[in-house]
Amino acid sequence: MELYAFTTGYIPVVGRALRADGPWRFIRMPMICFLAVYGKRLLLIDTGLGMLTVENPRAFPGTLNMRLLNFRITRDETAAARIRSLGYEPGDVTDIILTHCHIDHTGGLPDFPAARVHTSNEEYEVYRRLTGKISSFYHPGSFAHGVSWEPHRLEEKEYCGFRHSLDLFNDGSIHLVSTPGHTAGHIGAAVTIEGKSYLHLGDAALFESQYTDPRLVSFGTKIFRAIANQMPDEEKRTRTMLREHHLRYPEAVTVCSHDWWKFRGLPQFPEPLAKG
Ligand SMILES: [Zn+2]
Repeated sequence: MELYAFTTGYIPVVGRALRADGPWRFIRMPMICFLAVYGKRLLLIDTGLGMLTVENPRAFPGTLNMRLLNFRITRDETAAARIRSLGYEPGDVTDIILTHCHIDHTGGLPDFPAARVHTSNEEYEVYRRLTGKISSFYHPGSFAHGVSWEPHRLEEKEYCGFRHSLDLFNDGSIHLVSTPGHTAGHIGAAVTIEGKSYLHLGDAALFESQYTDPRLVSFGTKIFRAIANQMPDEEKRTRTMLREHHLRYPEAVTVCSHDWWKFRGLPQFPEPLAKG
């Protein structure tokens, strides 16, 4: 298996607004996806933004979202283009795991109409209730092409300190773990390669030191938390769980979608994050 991490464009944010030790300048806050390639299976964890935004940002994610978040993405930065650059076609993507359904994680979904899309039952319910409505975080344009959903119930079964989990393909290669708070059905996804775990945490936290060293949380992160997190108490419990996981499994590689600090230290695409 080969595992890649890449970002689909970026959001310009002043670093100090996120982290107390961050730079007083605009940093390129990433929207990180994982791509696992094994056998005939190509699996994406989150899609980031995609061709919809490259071609018509006014339609998706819409003028207001573009003004508020100032997404920047080029054609070459889409997950579809990254996959082509490795010699595959977007149609080769068999499975997509969504940590949650917000626009910056699902904007690339229409580029992969053939994929089965896995998420938690709770997150799928949020999608079902959308029925064509646009909110600041959800946009029906991500799903209008007709998604082959595979919602899952995560069982009360511990995986690396996470209380609810699911062995997605029953072969130990991919585990979904429940990390609620940012959204009610938010999940993380762990890829295991040669006994080592690579965990995509979506927006369970904005960056790693939010749970390893909370003193570094800056004003912008607090505002983001207040606006964007659906269930603040759950989110706090999830952060405690992430901290425990970090202490018990220091060898695990954990990546939050928008962690500029962590992303800079990872092997940069097309170099794989891991191989085995
Ligand atoms: Zn996000």
